[in-house]
Amino acid sequence: MPELPEVEVVRRGLVPGTTGRRIAAVQVLHPRPVRRHLPGPDHFAAELVGRTFAEPRRRGKYLWLPFTDGDALLAHLGMSGQFRLDAADAPLLPNTRVLVTFAEGDPQLRFVDQRMFGGLSISPGGAELPAEVAHIARDPFDPEFDLAEVVTRLRRKRTGIKRALLDQQLVSGIGNIYADEALWLARTHYARATASLSRRTAAAVVTAAGTVMRAALEHGGTSFDALYVNVNGASGYFDRSLAVYGQEGRPCLRCGTAVRREPFMNRSAFRCPRCQRRPAGPAYAG
Ligand SMILES: [Zn+2]
Repeated sequence: MPELPEVEVVRRGLVPGTTGRRIAAVQVLHPRPVRRHLPGPDHFAAELVGRTFAEPRRRGKYLWLPFTDGDALLAHLGMSGQFRLDAADAPLLPNTRVLVTFAEGDPQLRFVDQRMFGGLSISPGGAELPAEVAHIARDPFDPEFDLAEVVTRLRRKRTGIKRALLDQQLVSGIGNIYADEALWLARTHYARATASLSRRTAAAVVTAAGTVMRAALEHGGTSFDALYVNVNGASGYFDRSLAVYGQEGRPCLRCGTAVRREPFMNRSAFRCPRCQRRPAGPAYAG
């Protein structure tokens, strides 16, 4: 699944190709990505024609393209969903599912999705905040993100710190990769009980999550071509800046100790055994 920085790269990439542009035609090449639109693909296409996109928005890992009329097109990237902005006469990539042609001409907006867990849906009245996204907490990039309030709520939870970071109703946008990176940066073990954290340590961990995601965004943001907005292709250059995630056996960048991988919530947690020591008190191993 793409994480916040990858989705933000997609959002930024979409801005110049969609904002203020009016939809002239929509072709649904496969019905599955628009399955959430119950009246069907033809109705979906007809509903979009004539509308104008406002600037794409995001909360956590959720991305939507608001319309100037107050509704929105919600994009679920799933495992393999991606957008492309291509000339209308450019060859279609395999697995191209939806084509959006604009009254202003090129580029054409294309939704490509191999596995089709993702898709596009219309969110009535969703321009500001789609109902599908309303239960998701603000992410660390949000200008209205309230660190003090998040720290208070985090310390009230009876869980481990990594599990809390992954809770999208506490703070959104942090997935497995950046949770591990943030915990490494803040020298905190993933199983530490949230209730045992001082306000200062809890704030340091949450702040670190914003820091590592901002760094990843800078990496990704500099290397991508605005005409090729690719979620999965982004992973190649995002990987380079990772300190612990996927780095099992490699030396910790701070102390040189080999990074360890441990099972966590049916997945993995990566940590430096020296910088992120196992807590002496209660622990939540996932
Ligand atoms: Zn270390």
